[in-house]
Amino acid sequence: MATIEWRSPASEMAVQQFDIAAEKLKLDKNVAGRLRRPDRALIVSVPTRMDDGRVHVFTGYRVQHNDVLGPFKGGIRYHPDVNLGEVSALAMWMTWKCSLVGLPLGGAKGGIACDPRRLSRNELQGMTRRYTAEILNFIGPEVDIPAPDMGTNDQVMAWVMDTYSQHRGYAVPGVVTGKPVDIGGTVGRREATGRGVVYMIMEAAEHLGIDLGKCTAAVQGLGNVGMTTARELAALGVKIVGASDTSGGVWNAQGLAVHDLALYKEKNGYLKGFPSGESLSGTEILEIKCDILIPAASEMQITAGNAPRLKCRILAEGANGPTTPEADRMLSENGVFVIPDILANAGGVIVSYFEWVQDLQNFFWTEDEVRNRLRGILNRAFQEVLSMSQKEKVDMRLAALIIGVRRVARAMLWRGLYA
Ligand code: NAD
Repeated sequence: MATIEWRSPASEMAVQQFDIAAEKLKLDKNVAGRLRRPDRALIVSVPTRMDDGRVHVFTGYRVQHNDVLGPFKGGIRYHPDVNLGEVSALAMWMTWKCSLVGLPLGGAKGGIACDPRRLSRNELQGMTRRYTAEILNFIGPEVDIPAPDMGTNDQVMAWVMDTYSQHRGYAVPGVVTGKPVDIGGTVGRREATGRGVVYMIMEAAEHLGIDLGKCTAAVQGLGNVGMTTARELAALGVKIVGASDTSGGVWNAQGLAVHDLALYKEKNGYLKGFPSGESLSGTEILEIKCDILIPAASEMQITAGNAPRLKCRILAEGANGPTTPEADRMLSENGVFVIPDILANAGGVIVSYFEWVQDLQNFFWTEDEVRNRLRGILNRAFQEVLSMSQKEKVDMRLAALIIGVRRVARAMLWRGLYA
């Protein structure tokens, strides 16, 4: 983003990726100038009554990058490192992601700088409701539809939906996705992102002639996305040899039982101390020997510093922005097949789109319908990206960005810049 307000390592990286695609596409300069920065960025103060009686003021954000294809869509992140630049980068990636997989939605993101693990349920609820009240006039089923991201879940989405509905005076389930099924959520949303990652790994394996039944995998970030990915890969016969979260990692060449990892994490809240394996640091996990590596934590984990040491054949980006452009070049030279974030983790927003459609129609689908439609959209997108990468002789990330950015740019040229 050209201006100082949005500048951060993540937003610089998102713009750098965009510029590479814009140059390849010979994008109209006015359109490119506009797409380098968001439509709108809100910073809000979120006073929250803490359990000890104090009022703590958190800082919240909502950044809307582009809505030329449809209403803004994007998650809400609760994490201590959340800042305007990070949220802006994530909003931009959402624009390309929705466009790449052909959804009639634009890109947005939001978040609060906080550590949700240190907040009680009461504090979390109060903070979420006040944040929602602060962004109330900027969200809505026709305007901007939030969803879960790191540190948020279906309960948080239920509070967002309830707060919005209380202010409107009637139930508005379509204001968020990733809600519990009981209040208008869809079946299959919680698992959607991880499931999508696995569908994309299956496509990549078929393209590369790899037998998944003989593969090993490691997952950085055993949360919503990472855990589902590990579980579904294990169900296909892939041996999970490494896993990590913020507390550290565990490695076992004989394979880790995903069910036990999930139970241990549920009981203790973290992975540290998991008994059947060797301990690793959160970053060492990226360098272990495995066929498939899944970063499913945060941005900029794979850099020029560690990219040469990665030993995987397939890198499937469950997280948003885990790989820097310098690392991308090195991975490409080393023959690592990268399934880029805007394709690999698009399953989440695709099923969020299904949820939104179901809410607007008050007509709900079966889990089979959700799964099959998800797989159909993702597999088609994979083949489009692969063809583009072969035709233009570029890596999968640039191919995905070319498709995503081009669709948005075309729509902008039809509609005009209203300058
Ligand atoms: P989550 O909060 O459920 O899980 C995140 C996990 O990562 C936690 O276990 C945390 O301990 C771990 N973690 C954080 N930093 C780490 C680090 N440096 N090293 C190792 N582990 C670390 O979050 P999530 O919803 O699973 O999201 C994970 C990533 O996937 C994010 O980049 C998010 O933007 C992306 N994503 C999520 C969705 C979704 O539907 N939830 C959709 C698309 C993309």
